[in-house]
Amino acid sequence: MESERLTLLFITPGGKGAKSLSIKFSHIKLISFSVIVFSILSCLSFIFTYKLHKIAEINSNHEKELVQKLINQTNVLNQISKDEVILKARLKEMEDKILEMQQLLYKKGINKNSPVGGEFIPAEKGSFSYVEFMEKNIDELYHVMRNVPFGAPISGKINSSYGHRKDPFHSRFAFHSGIDIDANYKQPVLATADGTVKQAGRYKRYGKAIIIKHKNGYQTLYGHLSKVLVKKGDKIKSGQIIGHTGSTGRSTGPHLHYEIIKNGKRVNPAKFLTLK
Ligand SMILES: [Zn+2]
Repeated sequence: MESERLTLLFITPGGKGAKSLSIKFSHIKLISFSVIVFSILSCLSFIFTYKLHKIAEINSNHEKELVQKLINQTNVLNQISKDEVILKARLKEMEDKILEMQQLLYKKGINKNSPVGGEFIPAEKGSFSYVEFMEKNIDELYHVMRNVPFGAPISGKINSSYGHRKDPFHSRFAFHSGIDIDANYKQPVLATADGTVKQAGRYKRYGKAIIIKHKNGYQTLYGHLSKVLVKKGDKIKSGQIIGHTGSTGRSTGPHLHYEIIKNGKRVNPAKFLTLK
């Protein structure tokens, strides 16, 4: 059976030679179907490509953000690392200063153990045990600073040193058991360490005097005072005003006679006026 056809007739403007094109309907259907399928596929392809592009763009942005975050974190880590180096250097400086102070105290016979090769074993810097170690050493030094009579009870020139000298009363050689610090009348006298008053008032040749008992076997004596501001048994803080200078007792003029007694023996107070 002859299939149905579509015949297209082409007529040129001159009217000559009209041409016809006959196409089977089945072919038209096939061509239409192909065009539709091609269009759909083109659309899908476009959508798919567009989506892929968008995903790639998002991924690229995400990647950039991650890289930026990584750079920031690296910078932070670098800064922490630099800070740590600075911190460790400063801790090392502190450690050296502690060591130096301990050595000074050792030289003066105040600390029994030499800090070199002794108990001073530095832990890893920056660790908690290291900080604890530093705290322990600082506490020890603080304890020494408060309880060992450092510094001068008044500021002034030393008129007469510790040791043998010509006695100002009879011009014979005699042992001077302390130092005489030049002073005017009524200058405030400061305790050189924490302690408890053992003696306050008239005392032998020292006139009005104060003796303070400190920890670690130390005692200090302040003589020839014009006024005593403390009484026996008082707890005294380093730097506290305990009396006023004068010239009571065996004295030729206003000055402070200052003694340091360690384990019952008089020692040279000049050694305690400075750490060096
Ligand atoms: Zn004296």
